[in-house]
Amino acid sequence: MQHFQDTPYWHQNVKNARLKKAPIPTNTDFVIIGAGFTGLATAIHLLRAGKSVVLFDAMKIGDGASGKNGGMIGPSLHKLGLDGLTNMYGVDKALAILQEGMNAISYFKEFIATEKIDCDLKMTGRFRGITNLKDMDSVIKDCENLMVLDGFKFNVVDKKDIHDEIGSDLYQGGIVYAQDGGLHPYKLLVSLANKVSELGGQIFEETMVGDIVKSPSGFNVKTNLNNITAGKVIVASNGYTKRFSSKSLSYFYKRLLPITSAMIATEELPKETIDRLFPKRRMHGGNHRLVQYYRASPDNKRILFGARGTDPWDRSLQNGTELKRHLTKIFPEVNDIKIEHSWSGKVAYTFDHTPHLGIQDGLYYAIGYCGSGVTRSIYLARQLSRRILGEPNHQTAFDDLGFQSKPLYTGTPWFMPAVLKWHSFLDRMDGN
Ligand SMILES: Cc1cc2nc3c(=O)[nH]c(=O)nc-3n(C[C@H](O)[C@H](O)[C@H](O)COP(=O)(O)OP(=O)(O)OC[C@H]3O[C@@H](n4cnc5c(N)ncnc54)[C@H](O)[C@@H]3O)c2cc1C
Repeated sequence: MQHFQDTPYWHQNVKNARLKKAPIPTNTDFVIIGAGFTGLATAIHLLRAGKSVVLFDAMKIGDGASGKNGGMIGPSLHKLGLDGLTNMYGVDKALAILQEGMNAISYFKEFIATEKIDCDLKMTGRFRGITNLKDMDSVIKDCENLMVLDGFKFNVVDKKDIHDEIGSDLYQGGIVYAQDGGLHPYKLLVSLANKVSELGGQIFEETMVGDIVKSPSGFNVKTNLNNITAGKVIVASNGYTKRFSSKSLSYFYKRLLPITSAMIATEELPKETIDRLFPKRRMHGGNHRLVQYYRASPDNKRILFGARGTDPWDRSLQNGTELKRHLTKIFPEVNDIKIEHSWSGKVAYTFDHTPHLGIQDGLYYAIGYCGSGVTRSIYLARQLSRRILGEPNHQTAFDDLGFQSKPLYTGTPWFMPAVLKWHSFLDRMDGN
């Protein structure tokens, strides 16, 4: 019987954040709900502007999505592509939405450099393998359309050159997205949390925010420990908004679809194996409907592979076994390799596949990264902070999109297992 550790591979050999032990203060300028990338990056901007900031996280730092993701960074171009977005919003708005992905990645690199954050960031590029020639044509056409975006670069890889990119025979060709890269997400998270503490912010983990009640001076915020009065409240709870179900956040969880993304990490492999499977050490993905992403670990010793978690009870053995099956299709030799870690987390989709930020009933928010939140959370944290602080250039292409819900939707996407099964069926029909 296989046994997988259900803790993220990323948490190995990285020191946890240094959090100061102190009682919850009675008041503060800002309360931030959620100490992932969004909450911590927002806190850094507000602290640098001289504000007092208290962050609450219902879990331990690193147990949300920010501490256990794939660490792949890229422009996160919109699922609908230029044509789909143009049909919905017209070409100018479509281009503006797509350009935000490029803006996010350039700001992200600038932020990491100016804040001197050590997170093993490498701009490796990403190889997206395509399993059939029909899809290859449409992916190339999409990429050609995107050349209007500032900074977007790609190149096509033919079947005959595929082994320069990946040690797999699964793909008929592929695309290299030059502006993408990879990092160590838990190192990034810990660095952000340490920076918040150094700047005087207070982080309380395992402290859940409940009711948030308007008061003459701002808000009374209830937690499972003490209560606190805040001038302003920022919602940075993303895929976990419904799980901790503060009624005061119902506007948000009725607009978010929390979906499980799961990952596995293999045992350590010989250098020659990694050299052969990942010759350029890029980030990797494919054209499956059920999203797959994979890479070598930053120390180049293991394979990390992620996909949607399909086990209804989110058990690490079941998710991990299914993920290993997908990985073995790409690299058949993995069949004989041990999986050491299998873990999962929640991402937040939105009904229009777009992230959202703004203010609702006095609560500021940045939320809904649709599974691609490493660069976007850090970028939207800056834009939201600028807006809160009354600074210029806070606008984004997402500001006026409207944040949709659906009738009778209460924040639990009960229909997702059926959608995942359908996508998996379509993938199988395509031979994937
Ligand atoms: C397995 C996996 C792989 C992924 N891979 C990638 C990738 O390769 N590239 C990429 O760009 N993105 C990836 N993502 C998505 C990315 O990790 C997220 O979009 C991003 O981390 C969101 O950051 P966040 O701070 O908004 O949310 P989170 O990091 O999820 O933090 C939200 C926090 O809010 C807290 N919270 C919620 N409600 C309350 C409450 N009432 N009181 C107190 N605290 C509360 C939660 O405890 C949680 O810690 C992946 C996600 C997962 C799960």
